[in-house]
Amino acid sequence: LVQPWLQKWLQDERMRSLSEGTGWLFIAWVFGRDAVFGALAAHMVEEVQTNAEGQCLDKSGNLIPSNYMPPGILGKCPHPVSILILKPFPENVLKIRLATIRKLLDSPYSQIQVYELASKAADHLLFPNGTVCQLDNDPACDALVYGSVTISLVKEGLWPKKAAEDIYCSVAKVAGMISSVKVFDLPGYTDHTYCGKRNYAEDVLTILRGIPNPILDSHKVHMKVQRGETLESSISGLKMRTKMFFDATHFERRCQ
Ligand SMILES: [Zn+2]
Repeated sequence: LVQPWLQKWLQDERMRSLSEGTGWLFIAWVFGRDAVFGALAAHMVEEVQTNAEGQCLDKSGNLIPSNYMPPGILGKCPHPVSILILKPFPENVLKIRLATIRKLLDSPYSQIQVYELASKAADHLLFPNGTVCQLDNDPACDALVYGSVTISLVKEGLWPKKAAEDIYCSVAKVAGMISSVKVFDLPGYTDHTYCGKRNYAEDVLTILRGIPNPILDSHKVHMKVQRGETLESSISGLKMRTKMFFDATHFERRCQ
C-alpha cells in the first residue's frame, strides 16, 4: 500500500535520522530499514543521557517517550515476533552507555592509581624506587603527571573519582572531557615525555570504536518481517505495517 511512495518519503533517511532524532528510530523500525536503525541505535548509545531516576533522555535533555521506542510499540503489537523483543532495546542502549562511560573513566583513573601505588609502596616490585618515572626516578616527573591528570579531571567535575552510575551526561560528553586531559612536560634537558600516559584522545578513540551496536538478532528478525522477507510477514504483515505507517506519520507530525 505505501511502497510506491515509501522511497520518496524516506529520501535522505540516513542524514535526516541522525539530525532529527529518535523519532526516526520508530520509523526505521516500522519499515524494517535496518541500516538506518543500526546507525541510529549506535548514535543513541553515544548521545543519550540519563537522570537520577535512570530514565533515558535525548541529546537536548528531553525524555525519550518509551511508548514510541521499539519495545513499547511492540508491547502493543500482537505480532508473535514482538514477544522476543519487548525488553532488550532501551535496556541495551543504557547498559552499553554505562559500560562505555566506565571504560572512559578508567583510562585516567587507572593511570592515577598507578602513581598512587608507586608513591605508597616504595618497595613495590614494579616501582623499586618509589616512582613511576623510570628515566631518572624523578619524583618531580611523577608529581607533574599526577597533578596534570587530576587537575584536568577536577575542571571537568570528574575528580575526586566518580562512579559511572553517578554520571548522567552522554558518552559523547564524557569522551570530550577525557580527551581534554592534558599532561604537562617537565622543564629541563631530560625528555620525560614517555613517562606515563600522554595521549588520552587516542584512548578515547579506541574505546568509542569498540562500542557494540545495541541491536540484537531478534531485532534483525523483526526487520526482515517488516520488509516482508518472511512467509509469515507476507500473510499477516501488510495489515500491521499499514497501521504502523499511520502511527509513524502521526508521530512524525508530533516531532515537528
Ligand atoms: Zn619521568
